[in-house]
Amino acid sequence: MEKILIVDDSILQASKLKSILEEEYDITVAHSPEAGLNLAREGHFSLILLDVVMPGMDGFTLLKKLQEEIITQNVPVILITSLADVQNEQTGLILGAVDYIIKPFNPLIVKARVNTHVKLYSYRKQIEYQSMTDQLTGVANRRQYDLHSAQKWKECLRLKLPFSVCMFDIDRFKLYNDTFGHPAGDKVIASVAKCVSSHLRRSTDFFARYGGEEFVALLVGDGSDKSFNHFKAVRQAVEDLHIPHDPSVAPWVTVSVGGVTVVPNEDLHYDSVLKMADTMLYDAKKEGRNRVVWVTENMKQLREK
Ligand SMILES: [Mg+2]
Repeated sequence: MEKILIVDDSILQASKLKSILEEEYDITVAHSPEAGLNLAREGHFSLILLDVVMPGMDGFTLLKKLQEEIITQNVPVILITSLADVQNEQTGLILGAVDYIIKPFNPLIVKARVNTHVKLYSYRKQIEYQSMTDQLTGVANRRQYDLHSAQKWKECLRLKLPFSVCMFDIDRFKLYNDTFGHPAGDKVIASVAKCVSSHLRRSTDFFARYGGEEFVALLVGDGSDKSFNHFKAVRQAVEDLHIPHDPSVAPWVTVSVGGVTVVPNEDLHYDSVLKMADTMLYDAKKEGRNRVVWVTENMKQLREK
């Protein structure tokens, strides 16, 4: 059941609205704008019905506040008021309310408008999710990675936190595809992605499909030793899946990993750090694959084998 928040200082009005909608929605009621704002932040509402005239903060002010916060800014807001004049309606819509309902309201119209906006919001969330997710593996796609990496880099620069990026790819994947066919290759990509993401579950970990059989991961806050060891375990976990490869080249499907840990500063650019990780991946391949090569904060190399 989708969740709707009603913010209205009038207990009578709020309960009228609630009774109209509670059959189809999970309704929460706030009787003050402050309580409404706090509840909206805790979240996951698909719609907010907001009374305009309230003591203290009015509905327009609350609407502005909701739109300033990342968690609440995309949730559709329908304004409800008895101020049946054009000026107020205009103010509300310009501020970003999706609709405007004037009291006394017709229950069927309220229901119909609410249904429409909840449906539109749910489509929008679905499209946003799909545009950021790799279809084959269900992990983040390149687009999400581009947005996320830029944001995390800035955050680490500001907070002076260690930032690790690592590139890895499936060893001898072209040969795998040539031997077993593309559908089997797709399954391998999905299995590897699932295995790796199960090892990157902290809120500070990020993992995406970079393209083809290539992946990229970001770790925030860990030094190079910890990150290096973590990815040794990830690499081992992929090997332990025991997905048979062409026996003439390797018993199992494996991955090679190239990583870098830096503490970002103004003279350092993300692109050059990523390039370094890519060079380390190339090194890992050259040295025999199925291994991790890492560059530390002091520009020393850690090699697994
Ligand atoms: Mg009121």
